[in-house]
Amino acid sequence: MRLILLGPPGAGKGTQAQRIVEKYGIPQLSTGDMLRAAVSAGTEIGQRAKAVMDAGNLVSDDIVIGIVSERIDQQDCAKGFILDGFPRTLVQADATEQMLKKKGLALSGVIEIRVDDDVLADRIAGRYTCANCGTGYHDDNLKPKVDGVCDKCGSTHFKRRPDDNRDTVKTRLQAYYKDTSPLIGYYYAKGLLTTVDGMSEIDAVTADIEAILSGFVGADGK
Ligand code: AMP
Repeated sequence: MRLILLGPPGAGKGTQAQRIVEKYGIPQLSTGDMLRAAVSAGTEIGQRAKAVMDAGNLVSDDIVIGIVSERIDQQDCAKGFILDGFPRTLVQADATEQMLKKKGLALSGVIEIRVDDDVLADRIAGRYTCANCGTGYHDDNLKPKVDGVCDKCGSTHFKRRPDDNRDTVKTRLQAYYKDTSPLIGYYYAKGLLTTVDGMSEIDAVTADIEAILSGFVGADGK
């Protein structure tokens, strides 16, 4: 199953991707996570990307296309993968199609998680992750079962992203509407798009997504 999760920052792509990873055992390929890892490691790509990311703008297409192409070649992607936060421009979408074609692969489908703009700033400003295993939480909507302790790994260390603040959210939303939202029409025209209501409870969104995925699994047998 090769899946794209599409939606604005704060729509719940990462949260839903983590659940798909657990159920289907295919990796989540988040370009945001890969770029943050490059920034932390101080690689050349990380150094080029850092200021752009901190401001909430998009990193250049060639950088992200290159890192996704390399990542897809790794063994753990053999049975499929979830693209989270990529593609984010029409150039990246075309490159994805070409890249997959060259590797003899095709997309199973694209799921758009649709949410109202006015909730996004609150969702983004309240979110944080376990510093050890990356499980996502939120101050109001998704707290750990025991306060201050990660449900999954028991760590007591958490972190917040530097770009998850109200000032940067505006720029990130503008980038979404200008550069990424055209992908909704692009994938609709290819017959690949399904939309779920991301305003529902997290579990209800998961159920909607799983109903769609069961069709993909049947369709290509993996
Ligand atoms: P995310 O974790 O998906 O919200 O991404 C965080 C930041 O990383 C974005 O605001 C961009 O600066 C950069 N980024 C992540 N994915 C992409 C992409 N596909 N194209 C361009 N920039 C990206």
